[in-house]
Amino acid sequence: MTETTTSRAFTPSANVAFLKESATIAVSARARALKAQGRKVIDLGAGEPDFDTPEFIRRAGQRAIDAGATKYTATEGIMPLREAIASQTSARWKGAPITAGEVVVSSGSKQSLFNACFTLFGEGDEVLIPTPSWTSYYEMVALSRATAVPVMGDATRGLKVTAALLEASATARTRGLMLNSPCNPTGAVYSADELRDILDLADERDWWVLSDEIYRRISYTGPPASVLDLAPRRDRLIVIDGVAKAYAMTGWRIGWAVSPKAVSAAMGALQSHTTSNAAAVSQHAALAALTDTAAAETAITKMVAEFQGRRDAVVREMRAAPGLEFVFPEGAFYLYARVATPRGGDGTAFAAALLEQREIAVVPGAAFFTPDWVRVSYAAPREQVIAGVRAMVELYASFAG
Ligand code: PLP
Repeated sequence: MTETTTSRAFTPSANVAFLKESATIAVSARARALKAQGRKVIDLGAGEPDFDTPEFIRRAGQRAIDAGATKYTATEGIMPLREAIASQTSARWKGAPITAGEVVVSSGSKQSLFNACFTLFGEGDEVLIPTPSWTSYYEMVALSRATAVPVMGDATRGLKVTAALLEASATARTRGLMLNSPCNPTGAVYSADELRDILDLADERDWWVLSDEIYRRISYTGPPASVLDLAPRRDRLIVIDGVAKAYAMTGWRIGWAVSPKAVSAAMGALQSHTTSNAAAVSQHAALAALTDTAAAETAITKMVAEFQGRRDAVVREMRAAPGLEFVFPEGAFYLYARVATPRGGDGTAFAAALLEQREIAVVPGAAFFTPDWVRVSYAAPREQVIAGVRAMVELYASFAG
């Protein structure tokens, strides 16, 4: 049979037709394309630590390959890893100890978040999303056929939402709420009191709370409050975490969800029909990360100290720019700045000008439903971060002045 040369049009199904490419990934791709043309782009768009995975974790991965950890595992993950997660999580929970049966390990916290949304929400449900928020929350809720309801944060509180703001956006259809502290894209951290108010409201209204705590270990004012420290009970609580950020293990793809047993069983069933277990080798590496606590603490402390030094330098640069508003970052590795001006346009126009004219890549705030802003990642060498923020401040001054 001869092959025909004409190709037929592709129409995506209704399941995915509405999806947009992740804007954070799009910026990195454009920066890479410019670099490939030989231009010296400073990439402040990255959402991952610019550190190597600590050596003791890499070695554990190598040993696991040699020991034959190359086969399927249980869908929910290897038992020692689930037990280690349960035991670390239990240490923050005042109630009965959390068991391995309440932990599902996945291929990154992104998958756990998706599993949770898909398992808990459906047609007709509304899910409150504090805004700005990480771009994928909105799409995951939509993939679950529920409606994402952005709730704009308070500009006088680092763009964080309050219980009152959430309440004002709630309807009889509200089924759940996403939380993320420290927050991507702002670096804001919710205080214990702020979180407690939100959790009390959610408890009273019977909402599911999905708490994405992936940046919890990257904080500059001591350990941030976790919902586990504060929630009155756990029967509507899903805590999502992973090794990507704290242990510089983004590419290993290990995350998890801690949830009531019935929810874990449903998420495990979903995962068994989509991806099965997370990579076996990566699970063993993550086990080393969680159980060799002395080595892990040394590595995390060193990385967070470097992030804090960069955070301080970035804040100094920003404060030199009159009128340039930003959220004071208390955690994660992002700075969120309001760069819109009548002359320069919104955050998307600003980010495009910064990339094309000054070769600095940042993420437009439109990706996080706040088009006047841009996100600057300081997960890059310190001198590049300072040079990048200086260029950004200069560009802003040229538009604003
Ligand atoms: N949650 C937030 C807020 C993130 O910023 C990211 C990654 O950028 C993730 C989850 C996904 O992390 P993982 O690599 O564990 O899938």
